[in-house]
Amino acid sequence: MSADCLFCKIVAGKIPATKVHDDALCLGFLDISPQAPLHALFVPKRHLATVGDATTEDRELLGHLMFAATKVAREKGVLDSGFRLVMNANRDGGQTVFHVHLHLLAGRPLTWPPG
Ligand code: AMP
Ligand code: ZN
Repeated sequence: MSADCLFCKIVAGKIPATKVHDDALCLGFLDISPQAPLHALFVPKRHLATVGDATTEDRELLGHLMFAATKVAREKGVLDSGFRLVMNANRDGGQTVFHVHLHLLAGRPLTWPPG
């Protein structure tokens, strides 16, 4: 746990969030500022600031986030209509919270390329 990290505080239950997924490795919760009818974030329970800090030991963890997000997409009924999984990294990627998180966006047609 990183003491001043927002998502570590959510993982620790110190800041409330609406959970959509919870397992030993990751937590999924609704984004506070949804950009689509379904917008959830999937974070590792262990602090990792940005995907560029991941080591080979984090390979399964990163894949696990995708599986968890896809499971929720299935549960929410958007698997066939479609969804987007996004991980922003550092300044140009638009990362604002420095604890790795995978966005799940769905429920409306999403444009490409993103802004
Ligand atoms: P990013 O720009 O990729 O770093 O995404 C950070 C996301 O965290 C944004 O979509 C925010 O709306 C979201 N966010 C910030 N604070 C909270 C919070 N307390 N609970 C849930 N989501 C949050
Ligand atoms: Zn953290």
